[in-house]
Amino acid sequence: MAFNSGKPYGGIETTNGRLIGATDTDYFYFFCPKCPDKEIMRILEYGEHERTETNKYDATCKSKTKYGFTLAFKLHCEKCGLTDFVKVSNIGRQGGKYSDFLGKS
Ligand SMILES: [Zn+2]
Repeated sequence: MAFNSGKPYGGIETTNGRLIGATDTDYFYFFCPKCPDKEIMRILEYGEHERTETNKYDATCKSKTKYGFTLAFKLHCEKCGLTDFVKVSNIGRQGGKYSDFLGKS
């Protein structure tokens, strides 16, 4: 089945540094950007947003990848009902100081 039932998706509340998270063991949790006290969000589904044979960062980074990818996650907060999206990618930014990029994409 297509991610998000084939409907368009994109983060709204998750943008501009509002979505943060953390690990407990080696699992990563996303915290609701609307609720206080780091309410953990459910991940309703994930999908492959993009996959590339090569990775442009391999030309300039010391480390090498097997391929390029962007995964999309559909997040939901049981407490406030917020549903939103976030992407994780190895063809987006791969280094540098976060503060240098925030709000400049
Ligand atoms: Zn919430």
